[in-house]
Amino acid sequence: MTDQSHDWAARFSDRMARVRASEIRELLKLLDQPDILSFAGGIPDPGLFPAEEIQKGYQAVLADPVLSRQALQYSVSEGYLPLRQWIAERMTRNGMPCEPHNIMLTAGSQQALDLIGKLFISPGDPVVVARPTYLGALQAFNGYEPAYRDLPDGALAAPEAVDLPSGALGYFVPDFANPTGVSLTLAEREALLAMADRLDMTLVEDAAYRELRFIGEPTPTLLSLDIARSGGVDNARTMFLGTLSKTLSPALRIGWVCGPKAVIEKLVLLKQGADLHVSTINQMVAHRAVSEGYDQHLHRLRGAYGHKARVMLAALDKTMPKGVTWSHPEGGMFVWIDLPEGIDGAELLARAIAEERVAFVPGAPFFAEVQRANAIRLSYSLPTDDQIEEGVQRLARLIGRVMAE
Ligand code: PMP
Repeated sequence: MTDQSHDWAARFSDRMARVRASEIRELLKLLDQPDILSFAGGIPDPGLFPAEEIQKGYQAVLADPVLSRQALQYSVSEGYLPLRQWIAERMTRNGMPCEPHNIMLTAGSQQALDLIGKLFISPGDPVVVARPTYLGALQAFNGYEPAYRDLPDGALAAPEAVDLPSGALGYFVPDFANPTGVSLTLAEREALLAMADRLDMTLVEDAAYRELRFIGEPTPTLLSLDIARSGGVDNARTMFLGTLSKTLSPALRIGWVCGPKAVIEKLVLLKQGADLHVSTINQMVAHRAVSEGYDQHLHRLRGAYGHKARVMLAALDKTMPKGVTWSHPEGGMFVWIDLPEGIDGAELLARAIAEERVAFVPGAPFFAEVQRANAIRLSYSLPTDDQIEEGVQRLARLIGRVMAE
């Protein structure tokens, strides 16, 4: 025994310099006071969880003597074969022909981001992301010490002129992005692929919100456009990330990567080292849940989120002062608000909590290379219609006051 305590901080690896708690997340943790109307949490409405189907699934799997032995046992790192088959068939039907060997199950798509970072990013390697992009992807990649490069504003209108390092990893959320709610048009997707060809980029398509479209028809995925030119998923430069978190339940932790077989084989080795496999019983229960009535369930989700989005957009139209603009999502969970120059989203949050008891996520942390402070993210997924209307009114009142100061 010595009386000196161990200096843990001095022993952390160099890469931990890049791994920091975000101040915003710390602040948002304090927000569960009941009088605060929060647009901060970008998480599914728990009222839409198919709890009964999931309960039946666990019961059925555990009541069956053969299935229960399998369900409670270790299993292969690639994932439960019937679920991989279901995923491969669904992706094939959606313009992305692939085989179960092109699919690996992950603990949510968040783990796919981490494993992809581990497989592709050496310290200093260029990683190209949208401005703004999903904060969780930056957090997953940060540990691998990339050199982030923002996709320049307007790049997809003139992809031949974009000046970015060749050989980069490019991460994009083409459908109803977190944090903006905005989707890439078909022309933008084609431009992105043309740019990727010219700059020999590897693409990650994060499709977390793709199934939550409530207006219009789906736009082809990057992977489907890539396959149409390259001839097959094994020749593609794009990896596709899917998840059941936004449609069934995030607690099941079921996500997947679809990519060339050679890439999946490497990811399986990393998955083995990380956590062996996704919970066997959860994969089996998820498989039962998606095998029956999944499309009807999606229909219900789209109706519910579409309704909430309309309530929020109408409230914004009615109350926001001139000079404030916002995105018009056709799916997903988010509206992105551009504030007039000089209004800082983080300062606005502090005042919103103190003066109006309303909360949201400031925009700055979603920028990888060059930050922009005058934006905020609202999510309509959790609050009720009344809360959305009241909360937007409070926010508009505050922004009006700040603009007048
Ligand atoms: N990608 C995006 C764009 C997300 O918003 C999220 C969840 N916030 C994830 C991936 C991760 O979700 P999960 O790990 O639950 O699949």
